[in-house]
Amino acid sequence: MDSKIKTAIVTGGSRGIGRAIALKLGMNGINVVINYMSSSDEAEKTAEEIIGNGGNAIIYKADVRNYAEVDDMLKTTLEKFGTIDILINNAGITRDTLLMKMKDQDWDDVIDINLKGAFNCIKAATRPMMKQREGKIINISSVVGVMGNAGQANYCASKAGLIGLTKSTAKELAARGITCNAVAPGFIETDMTEKLSETIKEQYLKNIPLRRLGTPDDVANVVAFLVSDNANYITGQVFHIDGGLVM
Ligand code: NAP
Repeated sequence: MDSKIKTAIVTGGSRGIGRAIALKLGMNGINVVINYMSSSDEAEKTAEEIIGNGGNAIIYKADVRNYAEVDDMLKTTLEKFGTIDILINNAGITRDTLLMKMKDQDWDDVIDINLKGAFNCIKAATRPMMKQREGKIINISSVVGVMGNAGQANYCASKAGLIGLTKSTAKELAARGITCNAVAPGFIETDMTEKLSETIKEQYLKNIPLRRLGTPDDVANVVAFLVSDNANYITGQVFHIDGGLVM
């Protein structure tokens, strides 16, 4: 058990992996700010589940692309809980298509939400974390940020970018007591992967040594460890949570 009550912001905490992380941190006694963009009902349900189990959570609508909205979210977090100790950059989208067909908008949307969104949140959270001389930042990357994937040039570039952002943040902020790590999930069953065909899912499955798709809890369990005091000496690392897909 960590010594003090901490506060976490989970971007995209309304659904999927972000929701599982928010629930796990909430159950571990951490105050949680559940950020969302459009799924207010789902965000509300996640908060209710945390509160129903004795935890503390609020929801906050902000588009991570927009620095002013992100900065307001940080201010509200500090007003409500007095501290920001943990930032989980989870919000993400896909706009999959082959390079030749990819529109500028497909490229820009994915880079702006997945990569610039994380930059915006890190920038806004860093000042209070530096003052505290303590903080933990986790970026949710992806195995395809390491491997690449046909039809996902925009998404893979954003997820590879997050790995560079993680290592740079880790080096820049280590002296201030702030750690930054990334997790790289493989194929996790959420709304994002729901739209893929059964054939593609079966192809993935053949290449996963542990022979099953991942669950949001598989990711949340590792994130919960990385934001705990047990991970105080770990920074700048990328943790693959993929059933052995990349090794
Ligand atoms: P998901 O179920 O589609 O959920 C995406 C979340 O991101 C939602 O909560 C959504 O909120 C939020 N979001 C989207 N745009 C946003 C914006 N502009 N501002 C704030 N929030 C925004 O996706 P998921 O599968 O859980 O994925 C979560 C993260 O894990 C993503 O970064 C994804 O790239 C990464 N990942 C997923 C997998 C996988 O297999 N599922 C694998 C590797 C990595 P609203 O609904 O409110 O818009």
